[in-house]
Amino acid sequence: MIIFQKTEKTSKMLNPLKNFMEETVTFEYRTDPLTERNSTIIGGMLGYVSKFLTSDQDLLNLLVEKTRINCPFCPENVQTKTPMFQRSFVKEGRITIGDAFIVPNLLGHAERSILAILSKQHHLQLKEFAPKIILDGFRGGVVYLKRLEELDPVIRFPAFVFNYLPPAGSSIVHPHMQVLVRDRPFYLVKLMLEKSLKYSEKNDSSYWADLLMTERKSQRFLFRKNRVEWLVPFAPLRGMNEVQAVVQGRSHLPELDDDAWSGLAEGISRILRFYDEEGYSSFNIIIMSGPTDEHLDYFDVNLRMISRPGVRAECFTDSWALPYLLWDGEAVEQPEKLAGRIKKFLLNREDS
Ligand SMILES: [Zn+2]
Repeated sequence: MIIFQKTEKTSKMLNPLKNFMEETVTFEYRTDPLTERNSTIIGGMLGYVSKFLTSDQDLLNLLVEKTRINCPFCPENVQTKTPMFQRSFVKEGRITIGDAFIVPNLLGHAERSILAILSKQHHLQLKEFAPKIILDGFRGGVVYLKRLEELDPVIRFPAFVFNYLPPAGSSIVHPHMQVLVRDRPFYLVKLMLEKSLKYSEKNDSSYWADLLMTERKSQRFLFRKNRVEWLVPFAPLRGMNEVQAVVQGRSHLPELDDDAWSGLAEGISRILRFYDEEGYSSFNIIIMSGPTDEHLDYFDVNLRMISRPGVRAECFTDSWALPYLLWDGEAVEQPEKLAGRIKKFLLNREDS
């Protein structure tokens, strides 16, 4: 049984912006129902930081123009300036699926890291990430995982990752996705696997199945596409427009069929259109997987995505000390409010 725990605290002060009138700020401490990590929901924070979240269009255009020169991922350079796989791994040196071009990562975050270059265009606005662009990247990642499974089966913990634009940690502007694979789980995956096992032993059911059953009836539920269900998490990890997706009944990435990948690609594209509508231009996504050599009944493949600050002269970042070093979660508005805004946006679109 899923327990959604929250406690409300308030702080009173005399506000200089309102002629020193007494004002109350509300802090909602929410416990993640799986990991028990705290996330603080701070009412009014979105309004306070919103001026940093949209991009300065002139500065963004300048960044795009400057980085287009000699961009290794643009079509005129991609054959000569990106690494190749060893011939024994991929005979042709690289993998091509639709518009996606898969190459090894020159300096990746894990011992087996690749990049899926997603488009021939150097820059895409968030509303231009069509499902097909994302799906081609996923399909390329799957081909790579299958090849890796044949040649190096001990490397069994993959994660798909997007960092888009410098505010999201990307050194290259050109749209791309990373597949990181290593012999040990990433920390959050390890924690989720351990906690999911514990939950299943205690409750004799899967946390992920229980979560979906409960959340389908809640304000936080967004939509279902194929076997993928989309929601706003009760206690966000980072909380900047954070959205979660769960692929029900699939515990690792090679278990996903094209229908499930398509559900993920379509959902990402919808949420990115919402981010675009809100004025954002940068984002991160992670897709977490259990070990690829066994099916786990107690764990489901799941995704988190967040928007990041805009490209601005102030170089504002939302990686401040509390989430980055103290490991606490923080959200700038109530998850239920965010879900309401996303659903309102999607309702007005004919394909949703
Ligand atoms: Zn480029």
